[in-house]
Amino acid sequence: MHRDRKNIIASGIPASPGIAIAKGFFLDRSLPSFVKSYVSREEVEIEVEKFLGAVDRSRIQLSEIQESLIEKNGEHYQILGVHISMLEDSMLIDATIKMIRDYFFRAEWALDKVLKDLVENFHRMEDPYLKQRGDDIKQIAHRIFENLAGRRVDSILEVGEDVVVIAHDLSPADTAQMVGRSVKGFATDMGSRTSHTAIVARSLRIPAVVGLGNVTSYFAYDEVYIIDGYEGIVIISPDESLISDYTKKLDRMERKRKALVKFSKLPSVTRDGRKLKVMANIEMPHEAEQALALGADGIGLYRTEFIYLNRRDMPLEDEQFMIYRGVVEKFQEGEVTIRTLDLGGDKFVSHVDLAEEMNPAMGLRAIRFCLKEKEIFKTQLRAILRASAYGNVRIMFPMVSCVWEIEEAKKVVSEAKRELSRDGHPFDEEVKIGIMVEVPSAAIISDILAGMVDFFSIGTNDLIQYCLAIDRVNESVTYLYDPLHPAIIRMIRFIVEAAHGAGIKAAMCGEMAGDHMFLPVLIGLELDELSMNPDSIPLAKTIIRKSDFGYAREFLEEIKSCASGRDISDMLRGKFEDLYPEEIVEKF
Ligand code: PEP
Ligand code: MG
Repeated sequence: MHRDRKNIIASGIPASPGIAIAKGFFLDRSLPSFVKSYVSREEVEIEVEKFLGAVDRSRIQLSEIQESLIEKNGEHYQILGVHISMLEDSMLIDATIKMIRDYFFRAEWALDKVLKDLVENFHRMEDPYLKQRGDDIKQIAHRIFENLAGRRVDSILEVGEDVVVIAHDLSPADTAQMVGRSVKGFATDMGSRTSHTAIVARSLRIPAVVGLGNVTSYFAYDEVYIIDGYEGIVIISPDESLISDYTKKLDRMERKRKALVKFSKLPSVTRDGRKLKVMANIEMPHEAEQALALGADGIGLYRTEFIYLNRRDMPLEDEQFMIYRGVVEKFQEGEVTIRTLDLGGDKFVSHVDLAEEMNPAMGLRAIRFCLKEKEIFKTQLRAILRASAYGNVRIMFPMVSCVWEIEEAKKVVSEAKRELSRDGHPFDEEVKIGIMVEVPSAAIISDILAGMVDFFSIGTNDLIQYCLAIDRVNESVTYLYDPLHPAIIRMIRFIVEAAHGAGIKAAMCGEMAGDHMFLPVLIGLELDELSMNPDSIPLAKTIIRKSDFGYAREFLEEIKSCASGRDISDMLRGKFEDLYPEEIVEKF
């Protein structure tokens, strides 16, 4: 029906750089909504048959997907096995049939009602793993609904040819499933640059554009898409000449990237001799290798929660230990900062669940969750401590908001250390303990917290979210997301001064650290370490080496009285234009 349309351009938020050109693959994760509707008494058994037919088709589809997996006993295989067995579940299937027979409900309406009750029950459960089973049920029900309507059901696991994924939203678990598949890029209606889906896309080096508003409504099968993750643009059904322009752009960017990599091993020191460590943020262990190749001075943030996603059970201590040890052994020279579990916020639930969770970003996430689930926390700490015997490990707690959390978390570390000594496991007795400063309350009392830990790392993604009161995954308030907001600059300045006053290092590991445009400001703010997506390291080092610390500090004095981020950004461009490559100047 859209056969004659060409070159439809949609603008969104550039989430992960790169260009992808491929056919679109629509991944529909939303549950349809239904109005109450009935069948007549005579139609009841036909309706039951229709429902059982859809259940059967769902079972066959899932078994086919399961059999197509190369790795027969892996995680995906098991997850699919669980989903298949859920199609036998009486709470879902028999309850729906009963609803059709007793109340003459149409199958879709009956399933919808049963599903809502079940999901609510799961969500009321304390145990987070049981809670998540509600999401499995939703996925199963989604498949039955699609089969009832006679529509195709898609999943990333089914992707065979090269595609770009088009979706309303993707959970970080969805994005993580793209590893090793033919997904060349993705575009979503929802999301922002600092949503975890975007962060994972960058770590997987998949070009992505998010926050497009309604790109899914344009979707038509068999059409080609261009995803321009540099500009945040998606072109639907491009003509030959656009495809050729973008292919050339892709080559050009690739050549530039390669040229920069040559400089990545040089030390990151300003012209007047100020050393600023440039470290890497990683989400998956295999990225440690890339980080090293791109010149990282260490790992400034290892987001360990991705070990916990896409699986049925908690990772055991030994498994975690082997993973951490692998990363630590790669970085014999630099430090490896392992952040303890930061589940919650957008890393636990997708947009579909937001209504049920009310306010997940401010809920039981990160250190709050760990202090409630002490056994899960201690298992991870034991694994990290054991890995510390093999290199230079730092432990970092996320989302700290008060003194008590540090005290409690340290108690669990001491307990883990005592147990390891008793069990005869070696570990680094002096392992450094730090916190992420990402909640305004922690920033405001950072002078007090600095006396309790060995280092700070500023998490600007959350700090900006909480300080400016803008949900980081909500694209409709992205326009307010401003790292140069004077409130943010003042807060960072205060945190760095508090750290230095107590003789500890101040790092930054939020996305602001990896945005090359802000480098003169970050140098002037006297941060000691910047941690970023590995791909950003070579250009960051090149800019730092061209910078002057004294000049950047003067600039910080000049912007002290600026009233808005716009004013600071204008002054930044005026003063430092020569420092940046052309594509960054264009972004101002
Ligand atoms: C941050 O909040 O800035 C951060 C680095 O942590 P995350 O993005 O994982 O919340
Ligand atoms: Mg954070």
